[in-house]
Amino acid sequence: MAKSSKSIPGKTNASRKAATHGGRKRSNLRAGRNASGARRAGPSPFEFEKASLETLRSALDKLEKGFSGLPAAEVAFGNRREFEKVILEVAGRMRDNYPYFHPLYAGQMLKPPHPVARVAYMLSMWINPNNHALDGGRASSRMEKEAVAEIARMFGWKTHLGHLTGGGTMANLEALWVAGQVNPGKKVVASEQAHYTHSRISAVLGMSFQSVPCDVKGRMDLHALKALLESGEIGTVVATVGTTAAGAIDPLPELLELRAEYGFRLHADSAYGGYFVLADNLTKETRTVFDRLGEADSIVVDPHKHGLQPYACGCVIFRDPNVARFYKHDSPYTYFTSEELHLGEISLECSRAGASAVGLWATQRLLPLVKGGDFARSLSSCRKAALDLYGMLREDAKFITPFPPELDIVVWAPLAKSVSDSSGLSRAIFDEAAKHNLHLALAELPADFFDLESAGMERDADTITCLRSVLMKPEHEKWIPQIWNILNRSASEVLKRRPASPA
Ligand SMILES: *Cc1c(COP(=O)(O)O)cnc(C)c1O
Repeated sequence: MAKSSKSIPGKTNASRKAATHGGRKRSNLRAGRNASGARRAGPSPFEFEKASLETLRSALDKLEKGFSGLPAAEVAFGNRREFEKVILEVAGRMRDNYPYFHPLYAGQMLKPPHPVARVAYMLSMWINPNNHALDGGRASSRMEKEAVAEIARMFGWKTHLGHLTGGGTMANLEALWVAGQVNPGKKVVASEQAHYTHSRISAVLGMSFQSVPCDVKGRMDLHALKALLESGEIGTVVATVGTTAAGAIDPLPELLELRAEYGFRLHADSAYGGYFVLADNLTKETRTVFDRLGEADSIVVDPHKHGLQPYACGCVIFRDPNVARFYKHDSPYTYFTSEELHLGEISLECSRAGASAVGLWATQRLLPLVKGGDFARSLSSCRKAALDLYGMLREDAKFITPFPPELDIVVWAPLAKSVSDSSGLSRAIFDEAAKHNLHLALAELPADFFDLESAGMERDADTITCLRSVLMKPEHEKWIPQIWNILNRSASEVLKRRPASPA
């Protein structure tokens, strides 16, 4: 994920202290003070986390009462001091990370889970349910069914078949596996900008795969697709609704028309973008795609990306519940307590964390998946942040930008005399910004995404190393001016060291 391990964030001494000692004493809940009571510039992102531990404690008391009829049974805990020593050692080790929870981390697709998800997840750890079978987790299996039904409803589905998975990869694997059962012996196609997992998954499933070229906006090229469809070999088309690199949106309405003509299965990989169906500030074209997403045969969305969940939480849903027939199997071990559906009967993974379902259920209870709600607003705000940053980049002569963001991912490159020069500058700016606590990402994109001719840039390479920022935290909108300041200053410093004027 993170490309450079050298530029680890320099935390302030104050926050370092807070991270080390905070868990030992009673947490200091007053925002604006760290654990040692010293003033800091503002509230630490850790404060609310520590406050939520008190809620966890009351919830644990309530959970415990549910089992009070049992005879006393001591559980071996071990040496308390040794235990604490190890946990503090873990805290020390975990400091070697980018500050993903902070708004100045504006790099890869990493979003902190909501505190309600963390607490619900941790609380359920005392039960440690396994959502493979009702025998392993009755309550959490029901919560999974409810939470997944809410996701299906978000796309307009009243009926569906689906469940949570370890992530987008497993969710896509199931979707392609079902597609292969429906159209045996046929090919899978996805765009060149689709997640690389599709070609790899196809290989795992023994299905042949072909990628379809993209246009200059990173979307699947329909002429190229049509030529492939004429061959009669295509069984499944994967529409990427929000590419991982740049958030580009494949032209779903046209793909649906082609499906009517050629009869392939249409799978929508919206692992990243799916939740934007709730946003209220998409372009008209992208809005149309999301409005029609429910017409796809299957949809993947990752609650562990934009859905405020800890890893590992992906989700696959099928429009036709009858695909359950492909999963049919008998288990001599697990399905005894109930005639009701055991999730293992409709999932390729067997043991799965019931805690993931509990975290998701709690989050959707607090922040329902409805248009106009708080969660929907936070997604619109992420997109607004991306549009704001894009606007600043466009106006600045140091940078060139490709197509505007459709979601909340911005890509851009430094103006230089050649593509390879620009790539070198991107890497230098990435390092320089990190020194000032701003963490961006790098992405390798087709050089043709940029109008090189107007920029007077020599096309001496097919791909360009760009700067990339995934603005997926609701706080990002407010932080754009500060992000811009650091970026602007870092770019100027790099250019001063290594002047690269366009030809
Ligand atoms: C992230 C992503 C995946 C892979 O999902 P994981 O949760 O990382 O396994 C697949 N497709 C798209 C479009 C993604 O953004």
